[in-house]
Amino acid sequence: MAVIKGSDYIDRIDQLQNEVWIDGEQVTGKLSEHLAFKGILHSKAALYDLQHDPKLTHLLTCTSSTSDDCYNFAFEQPTTIEKLTKRRMATQFWARKSGGTIGRSPDYINTAIMTLGSSHSFFKEPYSTNIKQIFEHARKNDLSFTHTFINPQVNRSPHYLEFSDDRENIIAAKIIDETEEGIVIQGARLLATQGGLTDEILVLPVGGNTIDPDYVYAFAIPSNTPGLKFLCRESYAKMVTSEYDYPLTSHFDEIDSIVVFDNVLVPWDRVFLYKDLEAVGRIYTIPNLNIMLLFQAVCRQVVKTEFLLGLTETLAQTLAITEYQHVQEKLTELIMTLEIMQSLLTKAEVEAKQNEFGTMVPDAKPLMVASSYYQKTYPRLVEVLHLLGASGLTALPTEKDFRSEIGKDLEKYLQARNCSADDRVQLFRLAWDLTMSPFGSRQTQYERYFFGDPIRLSSALYLSYDKSPFTDQVQSFLARKKKK
Ligand SMILES: Cc1cc2nc3c(=O)[nH]c(=O)nc-3n(C[C@H](O)[C@H](O)[C@H](O)COP(=O)(O)OP(=O)(O)OC[C@H]3O[C@@H](n4cnc5c(N)ncnc54)[C@H](O)[C@@H]3O)c2cc1C
Repeated sequence: MAVIKGSDYIDRIDQLQNEVWIDGEQVTGKLSEHLAFKGILHSKAALYDLQHDPKLTHLLTCTSSTSDDCYNFAFEQPTTIEKLTKRRMATQFWARKSGGTIGRSPDYINTAIMTLGSSHSFFKEPYSTNIKQIFEHARKNDLSFTHTFINPQVNRSPHYLEFSDDRENIIAAKIIDETEEGIVIQGARLLATQGGLTDEILVLPVGGNTIDPDYVYAFAIPSNTPGLKFLCRESYAKMVTSEYDYPLTSHFDEIDSIVVFDNVLVPWDRVFLYKDLEAVGRIYTIPNLNIMLLFQAVCRQVVKTEFLLGLTETLAQTLAITEYQHVQEKLTELIMTLEIMQSLLTKAEVEAKQNEFGTMVPDAKPLMVASSYYQKTYPRLVEVLHLLGASGLTALPTEKDFRSEIGKDLEKYLQARNCSADDRVQLFRLAWDLTMSPFGSRQTQYERYFFGDPIRLSSALYLSYDKSPFTDQVQSFLARKKKK
């Protein structure tokens, strides 16, 4: 099988009949024909189709030493800097198809599967063999995954620990039984973007201190495993009146879902971490899982910044405001962000080092800086767009208005000095959809949170950063004075 076509992906998702709930109803028909899901499913299908374009196969696919098949690029273990560079270029090529707005393109979690599979010796047997097989199966069948690594937000107090053995009252998903066939999971997890829209789900341990072994597990199972439910948030795509009115929502609304495990049996051969209190604290760091995922994320964020810069500059040119210094200063913020993000990514790539499992791992520090920086900067870039677009981001007639009796008035009063009213409104609608529509607001929240809480990520950077060379410099400067 190896690389699939878009139609293979769509057929597979339709056939799985995953238990997906939206708007108080369980989806019974094909997900690919449902208003809420068809846009994103077909956008992902288009990404898969690119793998078959003869001009792109060298970029988007790879071969393996163990078979003649060719695989998606994300399943290739990068063992050299050249392979890491190719990975960046492929991720960015895919990301450009959505202006960086698809956060969970298949390469995101497939990178996690590749990283865990390539470092299978980190895990004890039989879990080592299990994760290796999960990886090989995913690579061979070009599977897509959603994932979850956080518990419901019931109580985030540092003094709170959930203790419940009564099945009815369990909230955070935990192991409730162990049988010959596998482990049984009960409870919920947040927040699976594209939950129900992928072949499988990867369930990773919740970060932080874990003291109760019933919460220590990791596995991957098909999305249609009995008892597994995806409870979706409201669809933004459902609001779409036309592609003209919602140029991004119509194609890229990924949907986020609460994942419920209702007495879910996870077969033993799908489990790769089980009640191992020692390994759980290191699963993200020793195989370099966090860093490999961050590399994919920062590649995408660079593309998103390019898109935002291009959009804001075009908007400013259309309003003829680029001669004002404060406008130039604001546009420069976008340029600076792009250059900073690109530079951090380049540094991470050129200073990559091979880990003990043979993976060429980008340098962690610039990627951690890029991710923390972007969590704070992205909302400011959105604000710049709002400040420059002003009322133009609100005075936005629809496609229907243009085709109606008032069309002539709109053509006249909404024209710009360099383009027709129709073109101007399309441009402003794109800016609105990226930053102000429900889809756009979620994009901002996504960039703030998708990799974790900004506060704790900054803290992780602070704690892991070696500050001693700099404090030593200060100490020697102070000592110089004393010597005199
Ligand atoms: C659009 C979107 C898509 C997402 N997609 C996915 C996905 O596909 N898969 C997935 O697993 N997750 C996903 N997430 C979830 C994401 O991982 C979490 O939002 C993130 O880890 C923060 O956790 P939380 O939302 O539970 O916030 P909380 O941990 O509840 O934090 C809420 C607030 O309390 C503060 N706080 C809470 N606890 C502490 C503490 N211990 N120390 C200091 N401050 C604290 C935080 O700083 C924050 O301000 C997604 C999130 C968003 C917004």
